[in-house]
Amino acid sequence: MLVATNQTIRRRIQVQGIVQGVGFRPSVYNLAEALGLSGFVTNNANGVEIQIQGPPAAVTGFAQRLHHNAPPLAVITHLETTNLPPELEQSFRIIASERESAVTTLVSPDVAVCPDCLKELFDSENRRYEYPFINCTNCGPRYTIIEAIPYDRPYTSMRHFTMCPECQREYDDPRDRRFHAQPNACPVCGPQVWLADSWGATVARQNIISSAVEYLQSGQILAIKGLGGFHLAVDASNEGVVTRLRKRKRREEKPLAVMFPTLEAARQICQIRPPEVALLTSRQTPILLCPKKARQGLVTEAVAPNNSRLGIMLPYTPLHHLILKCFDGPLVMTSANYSEEPICIDNDEALRRLQGIADYFLLHNREIYLRSDDSVFAYIAGKNRPLRRSRGFVPTPVFLDSTGPVVLAVGGELKNTICLTTQNRAFLSQHIGDLENLESYQVFRKTISHLQKLLELEPALIVHDLHPDYLSTQWAQAQPLPTLTVQHHHAHLAACLAEHQLIEPVIGIILDGTGFGPDGSIWGGEILVGDYAKYRRFAHLENMLLPGGDAAIRAPWRTAAAYLAQTFGNQLPDLPFLSQWEIGPILEMVRTKTNTPLTSSMGRLFDAVAAIAGGRCEIRYEGQAAIELMQACDSIEVPPFTFAVKSAAKEYLLCTRPLIRDVVHALQDGADLKIISNRFHRTLVEWIVKIANLARRDTGLKQVVLSGGVFQNEILLAAVIPALARKGFEVFAHARVPTNDGGLALGQAMIGRQYLNSQKKD
Ligand code: ZN
Ligand code: ZN
Ligand code: FE
Repeated sequence: MLVATNQTIRRRIQVQGIVQGVGFRPSVYNLAEALGLSGFVTNNANGVEIQIQGPPAAVTGFAQRLHHNAPPLAVITHLETTNLPPELEQSFRIIASERESAVTTLVSPDVAVCPDCLKELFDSENRRYEYPFINCTNCGPRYTIIEAIPYDRPYTSMRHFTMCPECQREYDDPRDRRFHAQPNACPVCGPQVWLADSWGATVARQNIISSAVEYLQSGQILAIKGLGGFHLAVDASNEGVVTRLRKRKRREEKPLAVMFPTLEAARQICQIRPPEVALLTSRQTPILLCPKKARQGLVTEAVAPNNSRLGIMLPYTPLHHLILKCFDGPLVMTSANYSEEPICIDNDEALRRLQGIADYFLLHNREIYLRSDDSVFAYIAGKNRPLRRSRGFVPTPVFLDSTGPVVLAVGGELKNTICLTTQNRAFLSQHIGDLENLESYQVFRKTISHLQKLLELEPALIVHDLHPDYLSTQWAQAQPLPTLTVQHHHAHLAACLAEHQLIEPVIGIILDGTGFGPDGSIWGGEILVGDYAKYRRFAHLENMLLPGGDAAIRAPWRTAAAYLAQTFGNQLPDLPFLSQWEIGPILEMVRTKTNTPLTSSMGRLFDAVAAIAGGRCEIRYEGQAAIELMQACDSIEVPPFTFAVKSAAKEYLLCTRPLIRDVVHALQDGADLKIISNRFHRTLVEWIVKIANLARRDTGLKQVVLSGGVFQNEILLAAVIPALARKGFEVFAHARVPTNDGGLALGQAMIGRQYLNSQKKD
């Protein structure tokens, strides 16, 4: 019996971090039991509160072992210990959750099914044999089923299911693997799957998996309700059905992701290096872009045409495991939507929006509250880097160097994400998509309100992009809150500062496609010097006339023709692509400067070089010309093109015209796309090093951040980092948040925090 004596001490330990819904309380319970301590553990809005009582040595031992003893999904970020007077008590208890106002606890991301559950899933003796919703404290859905916190069953979409006595017993037993596992369920009491036709009529409630697999084998398109939304699945070896899927989904050439039954199966198609294996098999299970092997075997070319990489992933829900094991081959698994629209999450919504795309639907009755697409990574320059940070990673915050006010940042237009900051945390949302359509815009608004509700945060400031036409800008300006406007590339710079917890001014090499400049031109090849508080434009790509603005983005041949006209005047060189396109009107636009905004975009320079050199002239998805130019690059030793740097009134100019002239001359001398690409990439590296040197000479700074979508280019990033390091620079690139516009909101939010902090001081 545990009673207070003179020797007894009592301590309160408040634990912060990812400590709810990850089996933290049972681990505390077991540790206290083992040490013979009394007291309790409970979830509160700040995380987990523990009170322990017993002999001093045991209490101290408890505190020391708390970290080591934590379950695999727990992340402890902060411990606060206070002494209390001993109480009379008998035992150690787990107390039901209380609600508090200030929410600082962290919600866990969704987690791939764990090895223990997988073993049970395929054990015919187990009561959850082949049950597609098997989960435990160490795995299963989290963020996507949570409506509010604390993370307890009544606040999740599992509240509609009452546990059967056996599930309840597991849930109540601190020694059980499913103790307080909120999504705990079994075939008797939990969610169910069924198959429906394209009209929503149920076609099977028995032998669901084998029926679904038969549809897939016979070349049908199956919509599968997953963790963060619906996927469209088809046989990846069947060119006919892949082509049909593309046509119906209006996705012409953008690569589709493939799910393999096992790592070994993926290895037959792709080269997978050890750090990639680690990420593929991690509990986040993102899509990883891996180099294809020469023999593609089972995956038809139509899955990722003209692309040397393939987006691959492994099964992460029990349902995936059941399907893939039975299908025993690679399946295309792509977000269920029309091109660039948000992923479907609701049964009725899916039946409505996927009408005409999916032939059959594999549905279930566990609701998804928050949609979350698959995350996408690529292993570039020695690190796994996110191109899309979503399922498995959100809502884990980016930890900041200091505490600060609550700020909401609404991101840009393409690859939109939003960001909420509080204390020393920045919560970057899941991938929302391109805010060019109504569906995405609705998801954008819903994500903002949901994240504010989940974190119980009221922002003091809303930060948005400088572009007046972005829907995110217009939404921000319509809110009854103070707003701050932030230039696009300044936000990119700030995102990289935040990720690396840098606070001093840096040299920012910010290269991307499009960002509105304060002078009204389209920026995108920017060398900035600055920090969160301010920036100056140190250098940029020479301004060029861009015929038709956005129309040029979809048609690199237009940019190429215009750049040639601005380089050679009326004496255009004789290049094959010029005769294939209607260039007369483009030349006229350039000559009269009609509808030709000025741009310093690096993305457009890639487009122009690609089209001139015989690469892609029209694109089917964002960045396609640049990606194909990069993938054409060979690695032989060649000289760079001319990379003149001119000193203008206020800033340096990186001269585009001499480069274009060199490209044309090289082509006339017989160079092919491979050589041009190689020389062009080398030119960019030399350019960046040269301009960084000039910036260091002028400012004394030697820290360089690299940001913007162009740094998704693996050849460029892998060459620039060591080239700058060799010259004594300290180089920082993104590895936690995307270098593309998916990371923009983080930078915006940090600039907003700095702005509020400086106002307070005045
Ligand atoms: Zn599990
Ligand atoms: Zn049950
Ligand atoms: Fe950008």
